[in-house]
Amino acid sequence: MSQKEIPYKIYLEESEMPTAWYNLRADMKNKPAPLLNAATHERMTAEELAGVFCEELIRQELDDQNPYYEIPKAIRDFYKMYRPSPLVRAYCLEEKLQTPAKIYYKFEGNNTSGSHKLNSAIAQAYYAKQQGLTGVTTETGAGQWGTALSMACSYFGLDCKVYMVKCSYEQKPFRREVMRTYGASVTPSPSMETAVGRKILAEHPGTGGSLGCAISEAVEKASQTEGYRYVLGSVLNQVMLHQSIIGLETKTAMDKYGIKPDVIIGCAGGGSNLGGLIAPFMGEKVRGEADYRFIAVEPASCPSFTRGVYAYDYCDTGMVCPLSKMYTLGSGFMPAANHSGGLRYHGMNSTLSQLYADGLMEAVSVKQTDVFAAAEDFARVEGILPAPESSHAIRVAIDEAMKCKETGEEKTILFGLTGTGYFDMLAYEKFHDGKMTDYIPTDEEIRKNFDKLPKVQ
Ligand SMILES: *Cc1c(COP(=O)(O)O)cnc(C)c1O
Repeated sequence: MSQKEIPYKIYLEESEMPTAWYNLRADMKNKPAPLLNAATHERMTAEELAGVFCEELIRQELDDQNPYYEIPKAIRDFYKMYRPSPLVRAYCLEEKLQTPAKIYYKFEGNNTSGSHKLNSAIAQAYYAKQQGLTGVTTETGAGQWGTALSMACSYFGLDCKVYMVKCSYEQKPFRREVMRTYGASVTPSPSMETAVGRKILAEHPGTGGSLGCAISEAVEKASQTEGYRYVLGSVLNQVMLHQSIIGLETKTAMDKYGIKPDVIIGCAGGGSNLGGLIAPFMGEKVRGEADYRFIAVEPASCPSFTRGVYAYDYCDTGMVCPLSKMYTLGSGFMPAANHSGGLRYHGMNSTLSQLYADGLMEAVSVKQTDVFAAAEDFARVEGILPAPESSHAIRVAIDEAMKCKETGEEKTILFGLTGTGYFDMLAYEKFHDGKMTDYIPTDEEIRKNFDKLPKVQ
């Protein structure tokens, strides 16, 4: 089939939706390092994790052998309300750039939560319900994860308690109200409700909070409330497993039209959308069946891959979570206050970290003013108002397409468009008013947090 016949939007039939998630770790020769107990530095066992996490999710987290997990029917039925998501050929963007490159994006913003996070939220809520739990706790930064989880919990009739980073809670009241519409209770973090929150408030009165701090509060609350467990929207391998639906659908749609991407690009916060998008393609690469270039894009103000170290670190500020081996800026790292583009987590998913360490994936960091410029260019021709996080991938997709223009190469570029940016209008406003600045941390600022990494033998 010639490329001309490819439609603007490739929609799969419901019957073509994947029926199993793909666990990339099963095919990796070098497996990601195991989670360790933060106190003993011994390998975390399922029993230890069971006080905080749901049983089936623990099984998925610890499993680096089984390549496929059947998606339970109740989850597939929920997926059908907003999936398969479209794979879009960015004809208008190609035209605007006058590039010979062919650009595709997989759009995950077509649901009320506005991002890919619902793919894992519904799975996590399902397993919590199956286990007979009454509720879950979590943290949210920008609010997309909290929104997705509150939708999923209301669907299955579970309580949902969200600790929202205080500065977001204050800046994004509408996000908060969406969560409350779906029945969640939302607390600004740090709060006086938990011991770790009280401790952080005593040490840093007036702090706007951080993701790492909200995680500590949510974990404490879950472990001390009967019938509750803690769930997380990114970073963990179980989340990447659920997000493989993005890549599997993309691969099915591309195979149908005989399209093979040369470059696959995704933004990287904790790594779940990127890991999910690349999973089946990376699977082919590690099995030696095909080759692709993979590019992780991160903010220059929070550059875990490009300037972090590959080491065991705490996943949260309160140091209550297990240790994970990952590219990290140190759990004490906080992105500069002027950073509004999301993707502000200090660490990275352990599977992606191992792939990057093995040279199977590249990473680049980009400045937020360049990200918003790309967002605007994209919105003006493709119509969709992208989330700032997603716009990191747009930036690099455009840069790669412009390189093709110079060399005349007709490369096929695929990127993940993870969500929409309707709740990020304050950041867009700053950009339009010329008030957005870039802050790139100095080497010294980055290095000082490395001293506090746990000393794992
Ligand atoms: C949360 C989020 C991200 C980053 O999270 P990952 O786990 O790295 O995928 C990216 N885009 C949007 C729209 C998000 O909500």
